[in-house]
Amino acid sequence: MTETFQAVLISRDEDKKQSVEWATLSEDDLMEGDVTVAVEATTVNYKDGLAITGKAPVVRHFPLVPGIDFAGTVTKSTHADWKEGDKVVLNGWGVGETHHGAYAERARVNGDWLVPLPDGMSATDAMAVGTAGYTAMLCVMALERHGITPERGPVVVTGATGGVGSVAVTLLAGQGHHVIASTGRAAEADYLKRLGAAEIIDREELSGPARPLGKERWAGGVDAVGSHTLANVLSMTSYGGAVAACGLAQGMDLPTSVAPFILRGVSLLGVDSVMAPKALRLEAWQRIARELDHARLASISNVIAFKDVLSAAQDIMDGTVRGRLVVEMP
Ligand code: NDP
Repeated sequence: MTETFQAVLISRDEDKKQSVEWATLSEDDLMEGDVTVAVEATTVNYKDGLAITGKAPVVRHFPLVPGIDFAGTVTKSTHADWKEGDKVVLNGWGVGETHHGAYAERARVNGDWLVPLPDGMSATDAMAVGTAGYTAMLCVMALERHGITPERGPVVVTGATGGVGSVAVTLLAGQGHHVIASTGRAAEADYLKRLGAAEIIDREELSGPARPLGKERWAGGVDAVGSHTLANVLSMTSYGGAVAACGLAQGMDLPTSVAPFILRGVSLLGVDSVMAPKALRLEAWQRIARELDHARLASISNVIAFKDVLSAAQDIMDGTVRGRLVVEMP
């Protein structure tokens, strides 16, 4: 008898109206790929929230199983790099956007998209990191390549209590940076200080229209928010500094001027996790395993059941999720 499993399925009707339902699938329903994985843990990222609520056109193939991240064990493989029993992690590559994703107990993907689960990490740990945390590490690596060391001065992290923000604060503080955490949630100041933030600022300070140049407050930063916030972060970056931009929680626009670039030599470093080359992913995951404090990772993450992913997707859109959500599969 064919084995079946539960999955979330996003469909679209003739009027292009999107709907989400629980479906019973079998491996025959999965898409093309040379590796099948038993999904043990997944997560709810901001992008998964956008996909499930339909707030942005993340899903571009219908019907589709959403979920951009998973960790699990290989059950079948014809790919040279993977064999049954291997522990793997997947982030991005269009999974959960154009290829069936993580919100099912089985996934079939291209083996080139997988990275090994780092030694010392469980599937749950890897999903506590997830795309948000791996992107935070890509941002930190981008700042390092630009020479933003702790001696250069403070660094700012926007959207600090979110997934990217919480991991970025933890990583940067762990490297000895003086981290200024920008948040709309003053009540979470103690949480951010426990992660290592040295100062907390109200995100209102950064959310209105930016002046071309402001007082130099930081040598660099990680921005998960975009729009006016990123414009303000740039205008307050000191001479020769750099800002890694990865997110759009406030908006996709960037109402800035060239002043920070041409008068202070500030650099804007774009960070994409979805199509990041494999070598960069491997480096990021190895560094996460080495550098991300386990106790702090545990304090960032909340474990939820698979049946609760749809309500969690709405929560992340409502901005009520702190840190990272880990989904343990049945
Ligand atoms: P979260 O929802 O966990 O965090 C976003 C945080 O942004 C919120 O917690 C909040 O922080 C802040 N925020 C929300 N709305 C606003 C607003 N209107 N104005 C200012 N700040 C706001 O999401 P993630 O951490 O998972 O993702 C953050 C962003 O990064 C998203 O835009 C996501 O799409 C993007 N991203 C991009 C990736 C890439 O490859 N480039 C990969 C991963 C994520 P607080 O309450 O502390 O103010």
